[in-house]
Amino acid sequence: MPLIVQKFGGTSVATPEKIQAAARKAIRAQQEGNQVVVVVSAMGHNTDHLIELAKQVNEAPPAREMDMLLSTGEQVSVALMAMAVHRFGHKAVSLTGAQMGIRTDNSFTKARIKTISTERIRRLLDDGNIVIAAGFQGVDDDLNITTLGRGGSDTTAVSLAAVLRADACEIYTDVDGVYTTDPRLLPEARQMGQISYDEMLELASLGAGVMHNRSIEFAKKFNVPIRVRSSFSDAPGSMIVSEPESSTVPVCGAALTKDEARVTILGVPDKPGSSFEIFKRLADRKITVDMIVQNIGEGDLADISFTVPNEELKETLKAVKEAVSVIGATGVTHDDAVAKISVVGIGMAAQTGVAQRMFESLAVAGINIQMITTSEIKISVLVQRSEATPALRAVHQAFGLHLKPSDAKQWQIGQKPTNDLSASDIIERLRSSNMEQLTLLDISMVGDQARVTLSGVPDTPGLAEKVFKQVADAGVFVDMIVQSCDGYQGETSISFTVPEEQMDHCMKILKAMDYKFRKISGSMDIAKLSVSGIGLRSHTSVAIAMFKSLADSGINVLMINTSELRVNVVIDGKQGDLGLACLQKTFAASLL
Ligand code: ASP
Ligand code: MG
Repeated sequence: MPLIVQKFGGTSVATPEKIQAAARKAIRAQQEGNQVVVVVSAMGHNTDHLIELAKQVNEAPPAREMDMLLSTGEQVSVALMAMAVHRFGHKAVSLTGAQMGIRTDNSFTKARIKTISTERIRRLLDDGNIVIAAGFQGVDDDLNITTLGRGGSDTTAVSLAAVLRADACEIYTDVDGVYTTDPRLLPEARQMGQISYDEMLELASLGAGVMHNRSIEFAKKFNVPIRVRSSFSDAPGSMIVSEPESSTVPVCGAALTKDEARVTILGVPDKPGSSFEIFKRLADRKITVDMIVQNIGEGDLADISFTVPNEELKETLKAVKEAVSVIGATGVTHDDAVAKISVVGIGMAAQTGVAQRMFESLAVAGINIQMITTSEIKISVLVQRSEATPALRAVHQAFGLHLKPSDAKQWQIGQKPTNDLSASDIIERLRSSNMEQLTLLDISMVGDQARVTLSGVPDTPGLAEKVFKQVADAGVFVDMIVQSCDGYQGETSISFTVPEEQMDHCMKILKAMDYKFRKISGSMDIAKLSVSGIGLRSHTSVAIAMFKSLADSGINVLMINTSELRVNVVIDGKQGDLGLACLQKTFAASLL
């Protein structure tokens, strides 16, 4: 019999009537011939209220007791949901995380799932029950109650769908599906029919709220197709699956992260270990760092810029000041009025001129780009916060995101994914005694890339656009782009990598531009080292471990970029093999 997991978020169970409506959806699915597992969140804003309550008793409540408290929110909803099913004459049994055998580690308030036992759920299902599962919670080895982090019910739902090998996982929420950007910001945003795991992961980590990041990591690891749909209508919603909606468009979505702050460390001695000294201090404080950009040093000094959430700025500056005195950097600047605009799409990996199109749309809108980073499927720029919405609109329009792609696909339930994950791979992964552990898929080196650096680029609108237009028009394939911020006297520098054989051509074009840069330099002798896998950003330790491993072997990092899928560093080509060996050793245990 087909099995379906349905998850109802807080707004979908906010009142007794809504609980009844959700119960009816579950009953309908059962009557259609499915076994049904329902995962529920706490009612409405109950979790927020519980946190509030705790704070009134103790400003800094112990994490263990916090989980004891927060888990009650979901316990209320599962009981009520089961009662609602009974009232309509059907059988249901509610279960807490512990009763379902969801084992987690013991990192209270952000626990990770290790194993889930399915026997009890299966038995109840086989007896004709709808199983009502409490989201967001589990137990550790000592039977302490744990929670999975805010929004964690999504992760419960997808992980149950994975272990039960469910035919569908439906996430019922208060929006109709996944949009090309937040429709509250841009009414012209379009609801997508489907989106790939990788794209959704990037968008989710950029704050495109719809789902808990870790739930998408689960879905990707175990090939669970997810349908996001409204609990208040019968509209089909959006599928999150292995394949993108279109195989021709370069970009599928855009996101705005409004409350960012930028920090720049000036005059960092360009030698092994500097990045590690900085970022380990941030990781120790659990600060989420994004958009790390290191420009190529002039003399022996480099500038390192990165962004953090605004609310973590104070703590960040403290950590950074410590690092500055240890490494002997010359100073720190910061700006708390910036916003990050990103575009995401699997299609951009295979096309030229995508970055240029984004930069052009911003230049036309007169918006200055302060910082740039790119990864295989994402380009992010930093702009002044007051220009954030116009910037998002310009970019959304430039990629025609409001229009349905002409080759748009629509995933059908039961459809076979085309990724190379076989049923036996999945069963192997399900056997793991640590389901959410970091999973690395590949550690590799690309040696045939060259680096180009433009120094003395004035920080004004339109220059990045000019540069990348020339380069794209000449058919040069640009990979990593990094523009740093706030360098010498309002100037910035732009570095990027191109295929070795296009380097000379690229330099000629840049030298022939009517704009004269202070310096155009480059190197054929670079190596790009990549670590790719699932959960690279929720496991923040990866980038740190990478810096440490390279620093320990005396290898200097020249450029860095990070995404959900991959962390890339560019190093001196002569040290490529050594660097690769270091990383393979460091990550041997996580490699699948
Ligand atoms: N109730 C929890 C929260 O509000 C879990 C969830 O809703 O997914 O974060
Ligand atoms: Mg929620």
